[in-house]
Amino acid sequence: MTFQEMIEHPEWQKKRLRIMNREHFTCQACGANQIQLHVHHLRYPIRGGFLWDVPDEQLECLCKICHQMRTEWNRVAKTAIESTPTRGLFDEAYRVDYIDYNGQEKAA
Ligand SMILES: [Zn+2]
Repeated sequence: MTFQEMIEHPEWQKKRLRIMNREHFTCQACGANQIQLHVHHLRYPIRGGFLWDVPDEQLECLCKICHQMRTEWNRVAKTAIESTPTRGLFDEAYRVDYIDYNGQEKAA
């Protein structure tokens, strides 16, 4: 199953709706509720798993702007982690987000 097929799968649609409902359809980062909301994975499932396999507590309801910023921050943090001589400290601080889709748990 491709990433796109998982995004469109009813199991993911149900899960994301449950997470949005849990957060009263409000962005957990900025509190916005009049803008498109996304469900962000703090952790992705292990290789071969489905997007909806992760426990609810590993999912966040974010507005599209905060989601974009979070994704960009993760990218920057990941670059920093990979290039810093003290990467162990970063690994610990950002461990939760430091996982690629397909479960590349580089810092775990
Ligand atoms: Zn937001």
